[in-house]
Amino acid sequence: MQAIDLRSDTVTRPTAGMCKAMDAAALGDDVFGDDPTVKRLEAMAAEMLGMEAALFAPSGTQTNLIALLTHCGRGDEYIVGQQAHTYLFEGGGGAVLGGIQPQPLDQEPDGSLDLARVEALIKPDDYHFARTRLLCLENTTWGKILRLEYLKQARKFIDDHGLLLHLDGARIFNAVVGSGIPVAEIASYFDSVSVCLSKGLGAPVGSLLLGDKDFIKQGKRWRKMLGGGMRQSGLLAAAGIYALENHVDRLAEDHVNASLLAKGLSAIAGVAVDPVQTNMVLASIPEASRAGVVEYMGEKDILLMDASGGKIRMVTHLDIEEGAIETVVDAFTGYLC
Ligand SMILES: *Cc1c(COP(=O)(O)O)cnc(C)c1O
Repeated sequence: MQAIDLRSDTVTRPTAGMCKAMDAAALGDDVFGDDPTVKRLEAMAAEMLGMEAALFAPSGTQTNLIALLTHCGRGDEYIVGQQAHTYLFEGGGGAVLGGIQPQPLDQEPDGSLDLARVEALIKPDDYHFARTRLLCLENTTWGKILRLEYLKQARKFIDDHGLLLHLDGARIFNAVVGSGIPVAEIASYFDSVSVCLSKGLGAPVGSLLLGDKDFIKQGKRWRKMLGGGMRQSGLLAAAGIYALENHVDRLAEDHVNASLLAKGLSAIAGVAVDPVQTNMVLASIPEASRAGVVEYMGEKDILLMDASGGKIRMVTHLDIEEGAIETVVDAFTGYLC
């Protein structure tokens, strides 16, 4: 029996249909610019998001880093959420490799960054300070969807202050499916967008960076420098194309499963579950039961992860079937009751 792996939506295996698409992919050397499948994926993504151009890279960490390095120079600053992936989980790449200073601040409960607080963090034009250049948002962020009204306000704010706006849209399609806002509408508020194909979309490897033509041209140089120039990467791009064609709408199933899981868990005495908007469930269990839960579930072939704030994080994805949710709720009930 395969484990019920709720640690992340990165754990999915390529489906049979995806493997077939990979097997059939036309290949070339993408560093020479002649892999037709990579080109097709990049064109398709640019079209879907309504951006001028796209770049295929090995990971979302790399696409976010390429965005930072392209938008910002040495001595520039970007403003970012304290719990944002770009700031917290990417090894400080912007600072290490780009000499770019991060200015983090706490996110609001809805995942947004309060624009009045952001404004107070923009540095004056004075040689004591780093030059504030960029604001990074994340959507979804910890499973939460940024409101359309907020995106509009953020764009206006950015234009008023002459800054740039990057979206870490690792799970942008969860936001699309969860809110009904078209992906091109979300993207239209940003100068650049990073999208993961290897999360809920189910591709084995790969992310996309989108922006205008000049931005992507500069980004390509950084990608090469970072070691992200790949050769017959059409093999991976084929999985990405398959994912964009077949795995976007089905994210709704993951959202239903996450809601079922939240409902089941919140019926157990002592368990509190954060409101679920997409495919991520964050649950608090009684303090006394915290320490052993990951091990206990692991013995039952249910894999969970500790999140910050003493919560347990569970992420649904295409390898989690509805029946599995019942198994997980039963296991929690057995552990806690
Ligand atoms: C997963 C993720 C990324 C990128 O991660 P990689 O593992 O490097 O592809 C970026 N941002 C968020 C919010 C993520 O969840």
